[in-house]
Amino acid sequence: VGMPLKQGVQDVAWPCNREKYIVHYPESREIWSFGSGYGGNALLGKKCFALRIASVMGREQGWLAEHMLILGITNPEGKKHYIAAAFPSACGKTNFAMLIPPQTYQGWKVETVGDDIAWIKPSQDGRLYAINPEAGFFGVAPGTNIKTNPNCMATLKKDVIYTNVAVTQTGQVWWEGLTKTVPENLINWKGKTHEGHEKAAHPNSRFTVAADQCPSIDPNWDNPQGVPISAFIFGGRRADTIPLVSEAYDWIDGVYKAATMGSETTAAAAGQQGVVRRDPFAMLPFIGYNMADYFDHWLTLGQKTHILAEANGHQLPKIFNVNWFRRDENGTFIWPGFGENMRVLEWMIARCEGTAHATDTAIGKVPRYEDLNWAGSDFSRSDFEKVTTQEPKQWKKEIQSHGVLFEQLGERMPKVLKQHQYKLLQRFSETETS
Ligand code: GDP
Ligand code: MN
Repeated sequence: VGMPLKQGVQDVAWPCNREKYIVHYPESREIWSFGSGYGGNALLGKKCFALRIASVMGREQGWLAEHMLILGITNPEGKKHYIAAAFPSACGKTNFAMLIPPQTYQGWKVETVGDDIAWIKPSQDGRLYAINPEAGFFGVAPGTNIKTNPNCMATLKKDVIYTNVAVTQTGQVWWEGLTKTVPENLINWKGKTHEGHEKAAHPNSRFTVAADQCPSIDPNWDNPQGVPISAFIFGGRRADTIPLVSEAYDWIDGVYKAATMGSETTAAAAGQQGVVRRDPFAMLPFIGYNMADYFDHWLTLGQKTHILAEANGHQLPKIFNVNWFRRDENGTFIWPGFGENMRVLEWMIARCEGTAHATDTAIGKVPRYEDLNWAGSDFSRSDFEKVTTQEPKQWKKEIQSHGVLFEQLGERMPKVLKQHQYKLLQRFSETETS
């Protein structure tokens, strides 16, 4: 529902209706959406088809439709791994998919397969192959700039559709965070003269652009065979409790980590602890069927794939949990994030290859300070402590609160995950008494 403006024709607001309506019938694979101009409801091919309907198809047919970015990472020797990562909305998928390694990572390459959705199918060789079912990127504009995501900015050089951004005097687009200084005489996203106390661009203003314009696009990004996945990463926004990175002991532990993933409301004031919302697999808004059945599908698929993998000399993808968002007592992010996430990525790859050390803890396998590559970084050992400490009190509360989600899911909740919660709680009781 759009129309190029002819010379002299007056623009109109993006069409939407007062009454909005969206309903999903999984049995007949139908979604009816009317009236909404919100991207996720208006572009039906994205969340509605590629996640909600596709997740139903995937369960029936033995594959996965996931809210995941896919990236390729190549070391200086030319060995390449593909990683898929699920972060809830606004938790860094697009940024991570287009990551540029720190300068000291000479010879390393990170390439983008997709930034939002992955369809993942087990193959006869016991590996999981992922495709990006999308043709382009539909990303949030505010905060995107040349420093945080240069690959994204380069992608936006031409042929882009913007919605709800501001426009400068010379007809250029603008949003909060694009430049430090706000240009003069901005027209805001509502088409009015920008006033300082309001946002010029809507916080959810978007760009839409073809994926092959991205400088870091992977040569296999459109390969229908997909790319073999070495590891899955899950992570939300957590000011405390969750360490920078931990590796699951096995598939069940990994599914547990993903199922109990939580994220804090971003509106939380600095220093204030946000409210944790559980967002299992970052799929809460997008799952097309019962969440407990979805956990079960992951568990079953892992079991089956494990048998095939063993027979073919492969291993199941490792599962990691990350948190780029731990805050100090002033509410500032401790971990620098963005390109620096490469240091964590390198450790994860080395874990997949069996060449990096990890220490066993109650909640997973974790690196010591000396297990990460700090070349060109001034991140201190004491700051590393701050982003990796596991507070037994916080963790006990965390694991107990997983029970709230499991209760909600009721009888269909897989028993192994409930047992896992019990096991974790016991580990913390033991550490307290010993
Ligand atoms: P997506 O919605 O999951 O694709 O998330 P985006 O990549 O669009 O990022 C959402 C927000 O998180 C943006 O404001 C980013 O600047 C911010 N962000 C992304 N990665 C990091 C990171 O590693 N550290 C921090 N502190 N912020 C990040
Ligand atoms: Mn995104």
